[in-house]
Amino acid sequence: MFHSSYIEISKSALHNNINFIKQQIGPQVQLSSVIKGNAYGHGIEVFGPLAQDCGITHFAVFSADEALRLQESLPSPATIMIMGFLDNPELEWAIQHDIEFFVFEPERLLEAAKAAGKAGKKAKVHIELETGMNRTGFDPAELHQLKEMLHEHRQYVQLQGLCTHYAGAESSENHHRILAQQKNFLALRKSFQESSLTPSQIHTACSAAMMGYTDTHMDMVRVGIMQYGFWPSPEMYTDYMSRNDMQQDPLKLLINWKSSIMSLKHVPQGDYIGYGASYQAPRDMKIAVIPVGYAWGYSRSLSNQGQVLIQGLKAGVVGIVNMNVMMVDVTDIPGVQKGNEVVLLGKQGDQSISVASFSELSSQLNYELLTRLPLNIPRFVVP
Ligand SMILES: *Cc1c(COP(=O)(O)O)cnc(C)c1O
Repeated sequence: MFHSSYIEISKSALHNNINFIKQQIGPQVQLSSVIKGNAYGHGIEVFGPLAQDCGITHFAVFSADEALRLQESLPSPATIMIMGFLDNPELEWAIQHDIEFFVFEPERLLEAAKAAGKAGKKAKVHIELETGMNRTGFDPAELHQLKEMLHEHRQYVQLQGLCTHYAGAESSENHHRILAQQKNFLALRKSFQESSLTPSQIHTACSAAMMGYTDTHMDMVRVGIMQYGFWPSPEMYTDYMSRNDMQQDPLKLLINWKSSIMSLKHVPQGDYIGYGASYQAPRDMKIAVIPVGYAWGYSRSLSNQGQVLIQGLKAGVVGIVNMNVMMVDVTDIPGVQKGNEVVLLGKQGDQSISVASFSELSSQLNYELLTRLPLNIPRFVVP
């Protein structure tokens, strides 16, 4: 093994999660599998074909380079939708390859019409509307112009979708903002209908909106984090579990990020461990050195906080996470040996580590840690 860690991706877990998501949306609503951020760190080239094998036919990416990587790795054709970055030179390429894309500015609509003319093929666009997130989306003030442009360029621009994105549906703190966004969106949708503009697919929901606001499902949901087995926030997880009186998480983590113990060491009580004075041994301790650090995406914010699994037991990170190594406390793990498997994320025995389980830390850390897993950690599919 040339690498100090590797990632296993479980096919049965993905099957399980897709089934769970499909139960939430029913047979009439399409599922778009969101694979931006290198498939939330799982690896586009590994995850794409696996998802297709599990019945996924629609994918959402952030940018043109992700669309290209996905397209090249899929064994059969699928719909690919770019939600974010696509530069003018790539527009024609996207249109030629039937890649759909979000349009949130008048200039992009014009450029798309131009590129479609050159390609001799219609651009399939999803018009993103500003409803209150204030990120991307046509402002109400631009609406009149937008509708005129859609009519004017209908020979080359196909209105494939009408969409928006919610600003934090995973937290009840944002409840009123989400309801206001929904209301705004419905009004805008109506005004499109009244202008004889009929998009094929109306879509607004991410994972959290799908779970928390069933009205948001419409024709299609764009689901990222939950396919990978993570809940959008601990709050959503506990809500769901108590509402349904369940004991066991219906989602399963796909990812198992594994390394092994590189070295063991005894540290006497009172000594500091690692750089600086962030951790002082409260007793005589046994420490395992793990050859993974922030250079491989193990966040520095997990210093003195993170946990790993060794011999089916939890071991806490002690001291600062270094660039290439970190230290964990194995004092209470009997028979621990150099070379023992270490699980950084995922399951070992009947224990499991997901970043959100460190409850004091932001729930956003799941997204962040996953997407920072470097491309060069080897990834393997397991049954
Ligand atoms: C990331 C993203 C999603 C998916 O969000 P999850 O919380 O991972 O389900 C959906 N829509 C848009 C526009 C996004 O950027």
